Amino acid sequence: MGEDLEKLKQRLPLLDYLRQQNWVARPAGHGPEFVGLCPLHPETRPSFYVNTRKNLFYCHGCGQGGDLLRFIQLSRQLSFRQSLAYLEQHSAPPADPAAVLEQAATFYQQQLDGYPEALQYLKQRGLYDPAAIQELRIGYAPGGSLRRHLTAQGYSCDLLQRLGLINSQGCDAFYRRIIFPCCEGERVVNLYGRSITAAVAHRFLPGSKGGLYAWEQVQQCPQVILVEGLFDYAVLWQAGFRHVTCSSGTHLNTRQFRQLCDCPRTVYLTFDVDANGSGQQAAQQLAQRLRAQGIATRRVLLPDGHDPNSFFVQGGDARQFQALLEAALP
Ligand SMILES: [Zn+2]
Repeated sequence: MGEDLEKLKQRLPLLDYLRQQNWVARPAGHGPEFVGLCPLHPETRPSFYVNTRKNLFYCHGCGQGGDLLRFIQLSRQLSFRQSLAYLEQHSAPPADPAAVLEQAATFYQQQLDGYPEALQYLKQRGLYDPAAIQELRIGYAPGGSLRRHLTAQGYSCDLLQRLGLINSQGCDAFYRRIIFPCCEGERVVNLYGRSITAAVAHRFLPGSKGGLYAWEQVQQCPQVILVEGLFDYAVLWQAGFRHVTCSSGTHLNTRQFRQLCDCPRTVYLTFDVDANGSGQQAAQQLAQRLRAQGIATRRVLLPDGHDPNSFFVQGGDARQFQALLEAALP
C-alpha cells in the first residue's frame, strides 16, 4: 500500500493537481515553493504554500498541511480510503489500447540492449545494424517485468489482460521474445513476438494484426515487394530496400488484399521457396487473385530452400537480391 501510494503521488504531483483544480500560484522566492490563496479556507492574502520538492503543502492561515492525499481528504471531505480511490481514478491514464501498446513497445525496445542473448539472436537472423533495429523499433521481452512497468503507470491489470499483454495468471504473456510493433500510421495496433528459443511458436497479441506491415510507407510506391515474415522484412529494410511490406503469413486477410489493390502497381511476391512448395503455391494463387483486380505481379524466385531472411543470413547482398527482382517471373 505504502509503495503504491508513493507511485500514485509521483504520477500526479501536488502542484499539478492543484493547477488542474484552478489553483493560482506564484513562486515564493527562489526555492521550490509556490504560494497562493488557500483553497481550504476563505482568505484574501495568500498563505497557502506548496513545496514542489517535498510535494507537500502548508497553510499559515488555517494551519492545515500534508501531501496530496491529505489535501484531497480535506478539500473533498473524504476518508483516507475514499481519497485513495479518488486519486487512483483521477490519475489513471485514459485506457486507449494504442497508448498502452505504445508504452509496451517502448519498454521492450529499451530492454533489447540489456540482453546479449536477444542481440545474439538478431545477429543469427541477419540483423546487426543498430540503426535498422532502432528504425523498426525492434525490442525484447525478457518476461516478468512488463506488468510491473505498466501498472506503475496506472494501467489496470484488467486492461493489460484484455489486450493480451498479461495472461490470466497475471504473468507477462511475452517471455524471451523479440518484439516487432505493428503500426497503422503512428498507432501501434499489435505486437509480434518471436521466441528466441525455437521451441515456442511465434505469435501476435489477440485482436487484429492490422493491415500490411508499415503499409503507409509504401502505399505510394509503384512497385512493392511483399514478403511473408517480419524477419524477411527486416533484413530487406536493413539492406536498403524501402518499398517492402509484409503480410505475416502467406494467407492475406481481406484488408491486406484490398490494400495491395488500392491503385495500379506491381507486386513482387517474395515468398519462401520451401521443399513442399507451399510458399510458391500460395504466391501463385495470390498472383492470380491480384491480376484479376488489375494488379501486375512478379514472382521472385529465391534459391531452393530459402526465404529472404535466410538468403541474406547466408551471405546474399542487396545487389544479388536486386538481380533476383529483375529476373522475377511475370
Ligand atoms: Zn488555509
